[in-house]
Amino acid sequence: MSVRVPAKVNLQLSVGPLRDDGYHDLVSVFHAVSLFDELSAEPNEELAVRVEGASAEEVPADGDNLAARAARLLAERIGVHPGVLLRIRKAIPVAGGMAGGSADAAAALVACDRLWNAGLEPGELAELGAAIGSDVPFALLGATAVGLGRGERLSPVPVKGRFHWVFALAEGGLSTPAVYAECDRLRAAHGEWIGAPQVSERLTTALANGDAKELGSALANDLQPAAIMLRPSLRRTLTASRDLGALGALVSGSGPTCAFLAESDAHALDLAAALSDAGVARSIARAYGPVPGATVL
Ligand code: ATP
Repeated sequence: MSVRVPAKVNLQLSVGPLRDDGYHDLVSVFHAVSLFDELSAEPNEELAVRVEGASAEEVPADGDNLAARAARLLAERIGVHPGVLLRIRKAIPVAGGMAGGSADAAAALVACDRLWNAGLEPGELAELGAAIGSDVPFALLGATAVGLGRGERLSPVPVKGRFHWVFALAEGGLSTPAVYAECDRLRAAHGEWIGAPQVSERLTTALANGDAKELGSALANDLQPAAIMLRPSLRRTLTASRDLGALGALVSGSGPTCAFLAESDAHALDLAAALSDAGVARSIARAYGPVPGATVL
């Protein structure tokens, strides 16, 4: 049983004030792109995880792996022994702001649901996923969607055509809680008043019209100043991409991966080569979106 699952980039990430429970109300426009992890599930005596790929050492290969937690949760829900070997082939950058761990959790839910003939409805899998992490329901759904609440209450967003992206992968990750904490600190230091976040109509119109130029100028991420503060080299990466003709550029989620929008596939190729020559990233990846969520191969 093999499942392919995409990374996400947030086209809009608006962060509301800190709530009493320690979370923030978010408006997140998720967009699934063609950078995929692959997960396979096979019967085994115990729950076990193997991770392969360039960044395998950065990922826990035990019960802490988000895919293992997902498998355990599903097994508890349907009352079976979680006897499964999960093999994960990582291509999504680790701690890169592209929700790779959540993607693997979503893939494990889909794979184990099939392996154990559980037959849960998509809504039931999404509910289990939300208990593991706010980005898991989107990794199940894919395409492009607005996420409200902590990002887990999803509604699909219509998109015309395909958008072409270049991603600059950074050396080392950024911790998502640390970036949120830095965002709160910066806001407090500037005495900023923060209202309830709203979906950007300019952004959703650009998506519906397939208008890459408009989309490029509507991209927005409230976590970007915090990510730059914690990783000042990101400023140079973002500036270089604008100088090289990207239609838009932003930090992906909590970073440090940066996403650049290109006009076309050919433009993405040129942009990727130019960014690579500029030496502003550890590595460069090209991808397009939207793509479907976790899919059985
Ligand atoms: P997000 O965009 O949701 O904030 P991220 O992309 O920044 O997440 P992840 O790659 O999901 O970050 O991983 C964050 C941490 O979770 C890693 O440092 C790693 O230790 C842990 N982790 C647990 N399981 C996995 C997994 N299957 N893949 C990647 N990281 C995992």
